[in-house]
Amino acid sequence: MTTAQALHARAALSDGQGRFSIDTVEVDAPGPGEVRVRLVASGLCHTDHQSLTWPGPLVMGHEGAGVIESVGQGVSHLPVGTRVLLNWAIPCGRCPRCVAGQGALCERTQGVDPALGSSDVAHGSTRWRGQPIGRAFRLGTLSEFTLVRAEAVTPMPAALPLHQACILGCGVMTGVGSVINSAQVQAHDSVAVLGCGGVGLSVIQGARIAGAGRIIAVDRRADSLARAQAFGATDVVQVGDDDADLQRAVDEVRQLTGGRGVDHAFEATGVDRLAFAPLRFVRHGGTALQVSGAHGQAQINVLDFWWDKRYLVPLYGGCQPERDFPRLARWALDGRINLQAMVTRRYTLDELPQAMADLLSGRNIKGVIEFGSEAPHP
Ligand SMILES: [Zn+2]
Ligand SMILES: [Zn+2]
Repeated sequence: MTTAQALHARAALSDGQGRFSIDTVEVDAPGPGEVRVRLVASGLCHTDHQSLTWPGPLVMGHEGAGVIESVGQGVSHLPVGTRVLLNWAIPCGRCPRCVAGQGALCERTQGVDPALGSSDVAHGSTRWRGQPIGRAFRLGTLSEFTLVRAEAVTPMPAALPLHQACILGCGVMTGVGSVINSAQVQAHDSVAVLGCGGVGLSVIQGARIAGAGRIIAVDRRADSLARAQAFGATDVVQVGDDDADLQRAVDEVRQLTGGRGVDHAFEATGVDRLAFAPLRFVRHGGTALQVSGAHGQAQINVLDFWWDKRYLVPLYGGCQPERDFPRLARWALDGRINLQAMVTRRYTLDELPQAMADLLSGRNIKGVIEFGSEAPHP
């Protein structure tokens, strides 16, 4: 335990009306069971753009990695200086879903039952202009410092650079976890992936780790499909924008699988109207998964569910931080997950406007904001 004081941090703040700015916030010292993290890097994800219209003001960001700067009472297992990854579904460890091993669905974190109370930081807060403000996913990783419960951090191996590790905390966990934990893809299974951005490429890498046979990438862009092949797709199908194009892609995937359809199809486009499209690509009894976070309107044809097809919307790839993050880090170190190729551009916090523009134009696989070196501040 240290005798830390509140400190100032530069942070990206969403105003709740679609705009953001960089300003100084005040971050409290950690209370009992809490740690304060000096962020080294934070990946950008489409949710960060959506967060611009969440009730604000709000510290943005949820895909972060950094170094423990100070710890509160009772935190003995995370020494100051520990390099950590943050997770945004912070399990309380006590509610029915946590006890059942589904920490990503924690009923406290997700606010299912107000009587359970929140697992948000209980003691300290982040303030802007003297008032406490919210933080995206109770993390707010687009800030030089953040204060979180100790359960929100997982130590990272020394050999893994934090500007790469940070993307394990959302996009990679979501994609790889949906394959390994949710779909439970087995060796020689066939897989189709709709959309080859950061999550889609993580699905492809997860499928390769699981030993899938055919891994079929479906995307509108030829360059995305070439990228998908570099990450392990065995076949590619280019698709146009209208329904007839989608049907042609379905037919092509069927042809590649002996007319049956794939065992598992993942929707990773983020396009709402495609949320149920993976059902059309799977065989009888197969599994369709929506992993993109699409959450608007989409038409359902009930027939698409026929023949005992399953449809899952896994949250956070079924993340169990203590099981999944060390495993993902290991796979990154042994090259089975290529984080280096996924982080296509690094920005300073002041370059956030450019980074957000690049996010929207699809220029990067993953863009990462860096706050400084991994070495301690002088
Ligand atoms: Zn819980
Ligand atoms: Zn995310």
